[in-house]
Formats: sequence, C-alpha cells, structure tokens
Amino acid sequence: MCRHLGWLGEPVSVASVVFDPPSGLLVQSYAPRRQKHGTVNADGWGVGFFDEGPRRWRSDKPLWGDASFASVAPTLRSGCIVAAVRSATVGMPIESSASAPFTDGSWLLSHNGVVDRAVLPVTRDAESTVDSAVLAAHIFDRGLGSLGETIAEIGARDPGARLNILAGDGSRLLATTWGDTLFALDRADGVVLASEPYDDDPAWLDIPDRHLVEVAATGLKLTPLKGSR
Ligand code: GLN
Repeated sequence: MCRHLGWLGEPVSVASVVFDPPSGLLVQSYAPRRQKHGTVNADGWGVGFFDEGPRRWRSDKPLWGDASFASVAPTLRSGCIVAAVRSATVGMPIESSASAPFTDGSWLLSHNGVVDRAVLPVTRDAESTVDSAVLAAHIFDRGLGSLGETIAEIGARDPGARLNILAGDGSRLLATTWGDTLFALDRADGVVLASEPYDDDPAWLDIPDRHLVEVAATGLKLTPLKGSR
C-alpha cells in the first residue's frame, strides 16, 4: 500500500509538505507508521502540483535517493499538490509511468490499494498496465463528479479491492477511503489529506472507512459511500 498526500490552500512549497515534516512522505517512504500492507514505499514516487495546469515529477526509484529533487522542492510552490510514494503490488510493473499521480490533463490522481483489472472496463489508454493507472483511466472516463459512485461500484464488483483515491484539480481535492487509512489536517492556511499524519498534532482527523472526502475553499465535507458499514 502506498502513501499519498494532498494539499489545498495558500501556496506552499513542495518541500514543506513532502520533505520537512517529521513524518512527511519522505520518512513515510522508509518508515511509515500506519501502513497495513507492505513495509516500505521504495518502488517509485510522484509529486504533482498545479500552476496554470497540472505538472508532474515521477520516478521508479526510492524518494530518499533523489537529492536533485530534494534540492529543487523548496522552490516549487503551489496551492494544490498531490504526491505519493509507491510500494508496488506483486506482479505490477516498476516504471515511472506506474507511479502516481496519474493525469487526464485536468486532474492529478493517486491510488492506494489494489484492484483486479478484470473488473475495470477500459475505454481509454491507461498510462501504465499497473492496476492503479487502469483504475485512474476508468475514473477519468466516468468523471470525477461520480467518484463516490464509481468506487462503490468497483468495490462491489471486486470485494477484495482496496480503493483509497486522492485527486486534485487545482481548486479542490477529492478522496475516498475504502480499505485503508486517510487523515485530514485543517490548518489556518489550508487542508492536508494524507494516508497517515505527518506529525503528532492531535488535530489530525481520522477519516472513517468507505467515505468520500471533498475539500474546497469552503472547507471539508465527508459523505458515506454506498456499501459503507
Ligand atoms: N497497486 C498499486 C501499485 O502496484 C498501488 C500499490 C499500493 O497502494 N501500495 O502500484
């Protein structure tokens, strides 16, 4: 299970959410604290953010080995960031195009989990054969406005699936919990969604399983998904 993180708010540097926190994504790549599936996230990483449109920097290597990216991350600033570190599911390809975030040109989308690709009807080219890329292509086809319905349907078709999604389009974040953890931190300057807290602030909200999370300028909204227990 990978770890992902999203930011929506005032422009902040990528480094301030990925590298600087005591248990930020960098530390989560080798010492995650809440990970239930897998031990390290060393099979790649991706950082996406918006300026006029989506920008991405992805790799098939461990985040901790990329001193070049760490050196530029303090200068990359955005009000909407979607980042992930990857622990590949057995049998899945290890290539930079298999690292989240995936994009359709409008959204940046990450998937924590696993899904049987056979239950996904693909109607457009996925960026990789990895299950997460095929799932992303399906979600893009259906439209992010139906994210909650899409996830509940796939969950019904593949009862073993874990379907934690995190997506951003520059002005909002959408996320689902379906089989793994997600936490939210409401800061004065914006909102963080993350697979696990990046520090020990008691304000981190533990999002219940099988929920849709919507973050916009107006705040954070939780909706139970069909099939929630
Ligand atoms: N199944 C996806 C992959 O192989 C995601 C894995 C994960 O969440 N650890 O990349």
